Amino acid sequence: MEGLGLILLGPPGSGKGTQAELFENRLGLKKISTGDILRDAIRKGTELGKLAKEHINRGELVPDDVVVALVEEALKKTSDGYILDGFPRTIEQAKRLDRILEKLGKKLDAAVLFAVPDEEIIKRLSARRVCPKCHAVYNMVTKPPKRDEICDICGTPLVMRDDDKPETVRRRIEVYRRDTEPLVDFYRNRGLLVEVKAVGDPEEVFNFIIGALKK
Ligand code: AMP
Repeated sequence: MEGLGLILLGPPGSGKGTQAELFENRLGLKKISTGDILRDAIRKGTELGKLAKEHINRGELVPDDVVVALVEEALKKTSDGYILDGFPRTIEQAKRLDRILEKLGKKLDAAVLFAVPDEEIIKRLSARRVCPKCHAVYNMVTKPPKRDEICDICGTPLVMRDDDKPETVRRRIEVYRRDTEPLVDFYRNRGLLVEVKAVGDPEEVFNFIIGALKK
């Protein structure tokens, strides 16, 4: 499975980040998460961060040009397999990804779609907590820290992501349906879509994805 090129597609809170991390740790694929790169820029207060913050906190997408450039830069530094978490999110991004991959001589093996009902998404996002210091991610229902709302790794009090507040979550789901869902047919038509039921334990979902990819 080394050397694979994968895209993770799915609504916010469908577990893409968790799975991308498992794929990176277990299979050595380089995880490229546009959300993580943008949040890092926000923390550092860079120009990119200032621009990104305006969009992210409203639940809107960051402009295509900006995220495409970030992904191109990250892919250039990747010598082996990769896993894209949260990119592409529009048809335009997907088309530009094709051109970048071609230029770099890399291939895309599959687009993995995480299927999760809306009610479940809202439940998961309202239970998500992150560590503001070491950025570990928890879920108060499915993956709680050992001490209430305190990071297991560095002992810092956990916080909610600004864009996980209910009003913003509703907007993120709308934007997903409008801009990102069309990618499902885009990749299905090319025979690259692998659909997985992303409910249950992360380990189970991981094994399920591996099984589906082997087919
Ligand atoms: P995520 O962590 O993937 O949920 O991303 C958090 C936020 O970052 C999204 O709601 C968008 O505002 C922004 N973002 C992340 N990836 C992209 C992308 N590929 N295109 C546009 N905006 C993005």
